[in-house]
Amino acid sequence: MENKREFDLQTLRHSAAHILASAVVELFPGTKLGIGPAIENGFYYDFDLPVKLTEDDLPKIEQKMLQIIEKDYKFIRQEIDKQQAIKMFKERNEIYKLELLNEINEDKVSIYIHNNFVDLCRGPHINSTGELKYFKLLSVSGAYWRGDEKNPQLTRIYGTAFFTKEELEKYLQQLEEAKKRDHRKLGRELELFDIYEEEFGSGLVFWLPKGAIIRKIIEEYLRELHLKNGYQIVYTPHIAKSVLWEISGHLGFYSEYMYSPMDIEGQKYIIKPMNCPGHVLIYKSKLHSYKELPIRLFELGTVYRYERSGVLHGLMRVRGFTQDDAHIFCTPQQVQQEIMNLLDTVVKVLNKFGFKEYSIKLSTRPQKYIGDLDNWELAENALKTALENKGLPYEIDPGEGVFYGPKIDLKIKDAIGRLWQCSTIQVDFNLPQRFDVKYRDSDGQDKYVIMIHRALLGSLERFFAVLIENYAGVFPLWLAPVQVKILPISDKFLDYSKKILLQLQNNGFRVELDDSETTLQYKIRVAISQKIPYVVIIGQKEQQENKISVRKYGSDKTEMFDLEMFVEKLKLELE
Ligand SMILES: [Zn+2]
Ligand SMILES: [Zn+2]
Repeated sequence: MENKREFDLQTLRHSAAHILASAVVELFPGTKLGIGPAIENGFYYDFDLPVKLTEDDLPKIEQKMLQIIEKDYKFIRQEIDKQQAIKMFKERNEIYKLELLNEINEDKVSIYIHNNFVDLCRGPHINSTGELKYFKLLSVSGAYWRGDEKNPQLTRIYGTAFFTKEELEKYLQQLEEAKKRDHRKLGRELELFDIYEEEFGSGLVFWLPKGAIIRKIIEEYLRELHLKNGYQIVYTPHIAKSVLWEISGHLGFYSEYMYSPMDIEGQKYIIKPMNCPGHVLIYKSKLHSYKELPIRLFELGTVYRYERSGVLHGLMRVRGFTQDDAHIFCTPQQVQQEIMNLLDTVVKVLNKFGFKEYSIKLSTRPQKYIGDLDNWELAENALKTALENKGLPYEIDPGEGVFYGPKIDLKIKDAIGRLWQCSTIQVDFNLPQRFDVKYRDSDGQDKYVIMIHRALLGSLERFFAVLIENYAGVFPLWLAPVQVKILPISDKFLDYSKKILLQLQNNGFRVELDDSETTLQYKIRVAISQKIPYVVIIGQKEQQENKISVRKYGSDKTEMFDLEMFVEKLKLELE
């Protein structure tokens, strides 16, 4: 049922794209058409326009779309000879459609017509334009034809459509909320991170002091957690000989994401896109008996992957990032217990960061696979049983596993209901064979280990973006870069304020003092804009009574405290 609905929604949205295109062609004669698919949450259409469009033009286009909808034109499907289609699109000077047509290896193609508008299209579509009722155009941006920077840049108009007014309104509200939470905007305002495209390069992230302190807290939490859970921490180099990536297979199936090799003394080296082969070498540096397994190696490993500049997006899509990466080397019999432990850890970690709702997918054996069937069955069952034992609801994605093993993908739901890909647990039968990774079993035989790749948060950069958006920049006390800001009403209270600062710092808190010569109201406004959990106000009364006045973020109530009481309160909150 859900799938049918999803399919209908896509049909509606793709039809909306046709209606958008016909409106644009009517408004701007000479427009050439690119493509207009339905996408997650909406649709877009790419145009080569004779004019420059901005978002201010969208209402006008919407008006035109409404007229087309009102006329209730039928969507008519026609199958025509490819040659006939070529002739037709040539007459219309649709050079992009011609390019697409030339790549179709069939004699017949289908076109869809409504009113005077014709599009090369497989369909399906709604019956008539009048069936589109609730839609909205959202934004305008540039997009290279077929995503290739060497091609002309077209104008892309994004929009969305729903079956009901309520759904549309709910989605638009969520978009508004998402805009306010945009990690790129908050990252700038709160001085968390930056990207110096001009000087340093696109997709390469700088963690500014306030963001770096959060990263340090996350990293320390992760290291401690992994040590407690029987992992060993390792560090591995960032470049490796290209022959390593040949053995690992990455140069075969992953090369489009890898950077070009560099020459060092006549040898080719490549910057690492993954940490796995490094961990394999560490495991292989000595012989392991079955008694030593499982061996779990953990690294906050930085990797570099090529992404086209067009898809880079703040911290979400970058070219260099650090994973909370680990590899577990175990026997087939140990897989299930390891997965169970992992699921416990995943839930614990995600809870700690405030994420309590998940969507979990188990992807099973695809058509093309390697490894023997017994192991596949064993691993798939291990993943299933572990999920069931832990009472975690999941869906199965049949045949969607990677060719070298089944996996679990976990998405987290954020404060405004969006899902974000987060943890992955991937069983691997391939790499142990490629690198000949074995253990000596109790029968004296050397056997292949099973490798489990896993990342709990995924990329720290991406997870940080999700954190920023989830909390709208108002981090919980344990993560807040500055936990308390002290605001003296005037310089007269500076000495007492400094004493309070020192005592809070000695108790391990991250504290700042605002000694600027501005009014208290202004200082409060600044502290609020920095989303600092607590401000401490110091004036005559506080100094005389040897107390402090405290105001929590989001509240306009001020409360007097003894310093010790406040410290206790903070410590309690941190627990
Ligand atoms: Zn279509
Ligand atoms: Zn790996």
